[in-house]
Amino acid sequence: MKSYKIALVKGDGIGPEIIDEAVKVLDAVASCCKLDFSYTEALMGGCAYDITGDPLPEETITVSLNSDAVLFGAIGGTKWDNLPREKRPESGLLRFRKELGVYANLRPAIVYDELINASSLKPTVIKGVNLMVVRELIGGIYFGEPKGRTEDKGWNTMVYTRDEIVRIAHQAFKIAMTRSKRVCSIDKANVLDVSQLWREVVTEVSKGYPEVKLSHMYVDNAAMQLIRDPKQFDVMLTGNIFGDILSDEASMLCGSIGLLPSASIGDKIGVYEPIHGSAPDIAGQGIANPIATISSASMMLRYAFGEIAAANRIDAAIKRALSEGYRTQDLAQFDAKEVCSTSEMGSIIANYIQR
Ligand code: NAD
Repeated sequence: MKSYKIALVKGDGIGPEIIDEAVKVLDAVASCCKLDFSYTEALMGGCAYDITGDPLPEETITVSLNSDAVLFGAIGGTKWDNLPREKRPESGLLRFRKELGVYANLRPAIVYDELINASSLKPTVIKGVNLMVVRELIGGIYFGEPKGRTEDKGWNTMVYTRDEIVRIAHQAFKIAMTRSKRVCSIDKANVLDVSQLWREVVTEVSKGYPEVKLSHMYVDNAAMQLIRDPKQFDVMLTGNIFGDILSDEASMLCGSIGLLPSASIGDKIGVYEPIHGSAPDIAGQGIANPIATISSASMMLRYAFGEIAAANRIDAAIKRALSEGYRTQDLAQFDAKEVCSTSEMGSIIANYIQR
């Protein structure tokens, strides 16, 4: 039996509710696939600030680095919005990613046939969409210096070094080799110097992957093309802010932000998390969709542990729950046979795994 240590960072808002369902599903898959998971909880976000005065206590980094992977819910909420920037939950998350060195954020967007009517786009446009956004996560304008604020002026700096671009580009090309061998690199090279470097370096790295077809696209065009014809994309390689925006846009191809998982990987351990936030508007009501987090747990099995059969089992159980017509509230008006709570959805998926 193989054993894995998982750090659970539940966070704020719906974070605890959705992580609990992912754990339920992991326990189900463990019993079927002869795996053993041990969990250690650690605090981050507003809940950490309330208890320790710091949105990212040192212990959370220690627990995470001593684990094989981190499963993370979400942080944030209006309660903490007026704190000084470094005390806010979001600062804790940015610091967490930087400390763990998770420079590559992988965000798959797959349209389930069962939810074809849930997208705001026509079924002919979205049927069969299966793309992967590879977003640089710990560089670019969210981290660049100088940054600052006066009464009448605010400024941030978009910076990328050659090394940062090289490592994220390698990730994108390696992933493309396992898919349909197409990478579209998204930048704003017609305006930004940093994007000109990005384009040059991505082109250089591509020479090491002659089987992969590389194309380049400006980010404004990419935002438009993603809606016009999303099936043209396989791997979309991009920087931090462009990837943040494009991957949320891609999520709506799929019908609900509550469906989309992500993996943040680097040279140490990976962080597996839904792409959505802490959804304070629905927290505590038992109506959040846990599928994004359960899919993130599947990505953890696949990318961190190489447990492909177990990951496939989770993915199949999610698909089965959807094809049987089970829907959480966010998808209730789309071909639902039964509307279920967060916890019921977790149990249904766990049951399909065990059958
Ligand atoms: P959000 O993603 O939390 O919510 C946006 C909308 O999507 C809301 O209407 C919400 O109810 C809905 N939603 C989100 N997840 C859902 C789910 N699983 N099931 C059903 N509906 C879901 O974004 P927001 O409202 O802009 O931000 C709320 C807080 O989350 C803020 O404090 C923000 O800073 C934080 N945030 C955290 C992360 C993170 O932890 N990675 C990411 C984004 C935002």
